[in-house]
Amino acid sequence: MSFSPELSALGASALLRRRGLRWTALFEVRHHDLLGRVGRLRTRRGVVETPALLPVVNPLKQLVSPQELWEMGFRAIMVNAYLLLKSMREEVESRGIHEVLGFEGAIMTDSGAYQLLVHGKVDTTPEEIVEFQVKAGSDVAVILDVPTGYPASRSVAEATVDETLRRARALFSLDRGEALWVGPVQGGAWLNLVERCAREMASLPFDLHALGSPTRVMEQYLFDLLVDMLAAAKPHLPLSRPLHLFGAGHPMMFSLAVALGCDLFDSASYALYARQGRYMVDHGTLRAESLKYLPCSCAVCSKLTVEELREMPRVEAERALAKHNLYVCLAELKRVKQAIVEGRLWELLEARSRSHPSMGAALRKLRELTPLLEAGTPISKPKGAFFHDASSMHRPEAYRFRRRVKERLSFNHRKLLLLIPPPPSKPYTRSKAVKRALKELHEVLKDELSLIEICVYATPLGLVPLELDEVYPASQHEAPRGLEVEAEGVSASEVADLIDSGGFEAVVYLHLPRLRGLVHDAALKACLERGLGFKAYSPKASPWSPRSLKELASLVGELLKKAKEA
Ligand SMILES: [Zn+2]
Repeated sequence: MSFSPELSALGASALLRRRGLRWTALFEVRHHDLLGRVGRLRTRRGVVETPALLPVVNPLKQLVSPQELWEMGFRAIMVNAYLLLKSMREEVESRGIHEVLGFEGAIMTDSGAYQLLVHGKVDTTPEEIVEFQVKAGSDVAVILDVPTGYPASRSVAEATVDETLRRARALFSLDRGEALWVGPVQGGAWLNLVERCAREMASLPFDLHALGSPTRVMEQYLFDLLVDMLAAAKPHLPLSRPLHLFGAGHPMMFSLAVALGCDLFDSASYALYARQGRYMVDHGTLRAESLKYLPCSCAVCSKLTVEELREMPRVEAERALAKHNLYVCLAELKRVKQAIVEGRLWELLEARSRSHPSMGAALRKLRELTPLLEAGTPISKPKGAFFHDASSMHRPEAYRFRRRVKERLSFNHRKLLLLIPPPPSKPYTRSKAVKRALKELHEVLKDELSLIEICVYATPLGLVPLELDEVYPASQHEAPRGLEVEAEGVSASEVADLIDSGGFEAVVYLHLPRLRGLVHDAALKACLERGLGFKAYSPKASPWSPRSLKELASLVGELLKKAKEA
């Protein structure tokens, strides 16, 4: 995976585009966490901060007008070029799309691929829709791709990918105007097709990419499949090009899509939900008619009671719901951006994974992608990492730490491995308990203390050698009391590798009464198999009491002596 160097190089000079005499970065990444970015996309109509939601505006039936969207804070909207072509072609071509819609921000036009997916055919050609988007003055335009849809047979999926790629290549012999062009990635649930399509799209000079036809997948809450699809596409697309996710309009899954590298979303959900009387909240959807309270303080809800909403004329209530839904989306996107800046996107993902079992399934799926997510995760973060339960132990920082212990450390000069449970405070090396232990060990061993490797087991990071105590997040993390019991299993699975990584002759294990002894069992087994000495010490009092530590030190001394004699 070649993410990190490119990610860190994504400064002001990401992708340069000649505009008059000035070179400007088309997409600039300001902050990143996991594969999520806070960025700035330059369009002809100004900068759009990403991640951004582009509300879909139906030019023929506006529930919330483009002007209102601008006032609410939306700097980009989406409109269907195919509908415009069929209903207002002359007007749009002569006056331009911005004037017709009355929107001064960036306008992205979709090509009609959605109509193709729903109706099976469209009454236009790929060339005509490209030409129309150029004439309309679209800021971000999409080729007429052929959506794979879901479910689709392998042969259908293959045909849609081939035809989409053919149309993508053909674009570059047409007049493309000044729009930024989107290269959609098709393939549906056929992940190797998604991967191939992404690779070939990446080789063409598109400005952005999009993951095509995930609508049915998201409607059916198959978020784990969405994770697979994004993970198949993302590593093969240039990081300097923003990734759009079509039809993702629910705040519940923004953090998930952003964590997998999506920068832009579009959706008509705010309006569709409003028509069905559905009230979005950041973790799901409620039925407006069954609400006793409006659990929101947006500009709409703060001026309304639930009774007033119920008594409103239908159209007015729909408008109120639509605007509320948009405010909820905006608020969640702000939360996602702030989480990226603070390096807490994983924590937001964990919180959202409780919104719905399907979101939980998606989080479990992410565990398989830790190497990919690690590549986008900063080495050090302004804030400590929170570990809530076993699922937190899969966060990329923990994975990176374990990888480093395995790859970087060599314990060849050590003769004895001392495994200790987590001391009561962090950093471990500065805790009273460890200082006292080192003092007692020094009393017994003197200069031979350097022959001992001390490792803390049952931490949320796995095994923490004391010399890595200052490496993020060994000291910079918070975990609830009792997590050691769940963390024991992770350490147990690593202990044999650790023993093999050194020239150890013996292992001493210090037991903490509330633990199950999994690390003990794993270490004992490894020592027996390798013919190494092993001693476990299970003190009656606290393991950190002066007496326990004195006894531990003399045990270590004895075993080291034996090991040296052997
Ligand atoms: Zn509200």
